[in-house]
Amino acid sequence: MVSLLILGALCLNAKKAPPPVPDYLAAPAEAQGHKVALGFFGHFDDDSTISGTMNLLVRNGWEVHIAWITTAGGVGGIYGEPEERIAEARLAAGVMGIPPERQHYLGFPDRGVVDQLPEAIDQAVALIAEVRPSLVITCAYEGGHTDHDATPLAAYVAGRRLDFPFARFEVPTYNTSGPWIMPYRVNGFIKAWGPWEYLKLDREGYHVRKKVRRTYQSQWFFMVPEGSIGLWRHLRGQGEPIRKTPDYDFTQPPHPGKLLWQRGPGVKTGAPFDYWRNAVLSIPEFQP
Ligand SMILES: [Zn+2]
Repeated sequence: MVSLLILGALCLNAKKAPPPVPDYLAAPAEAQGHKVALGFFGHFDDDSTISGTMNLLVRNGWEVHIAWITTAGGVGGIYGEPEERIAEARLAAGVMGIPPERQHYLGFPDRGVVDQLPEAIDQAVALIAEVRPSLVITCAYEGGHTDHDATPLAAYVAGRRLDFPFARFEVPTYNTSGPWIMPYRVNGFIKAWGPWEYLKLDREGYHVRKKVRRTYQSQWFFMVPEGSIGLWRHLRGQGEPIRKTPDYDFTQPPHPGKLLWQRGPGVKTGAPFDYWRNAVLSIPEFQP
């Protein structure tokens, strides 16, 4: 009987022990003795690309927060309504293991962050000051969507304004940095900015990632290709792409050629790059 109990306990323990957080992510936090992470994204669903990693941090005992700069939806078409999108986000964060008090909704309009950029950055910096993370994971600066690009910009400005250090990492959503014959890249980094890591997930992490994707059911048209790429990588023993945020110049395009947000559909179709650059230049840190 006792041996059965011990065996049972061992099995339970084996199921629950998560793989460790890789050194490249954990080292800055461990050096500070302060394991607090903030995932900061454009829209409800951008986080699905890194949801297994967010859950891995939770299972390793980190205090994990999640924030979105917009209230996604309400832009017509197939993108859904804000109420439905917020409800999905609350559920998805719960699936990752992030409780309601660590979920933060900045509420800027979908596609509209660039039009209120200094205010959005101020609010994001205030949130980072409140959370005091040692690790911030944002969308990549890749020209896919101006709402996405605002998140690494906010983390950069926070690093300049705040008096505590934190590591900045990024995850790719979509961009048009590929060759002219097929420029679109989904969940793939702009190669010119250097190498990246794949964070390999255990069975439970991959399960969480699948469940998060299903939770964002209104965005199935993004979740299906993203899921196929994720499955392909999982089967090949890779995982979720993540990279230490390169030293971007946010007043310059992240890659040559037309950016995805300029191409459309939606976002700021046909607008010149100055649409973004002028907004960046209106932030105090970028003024001469
Ligand atoms: Zn998005």
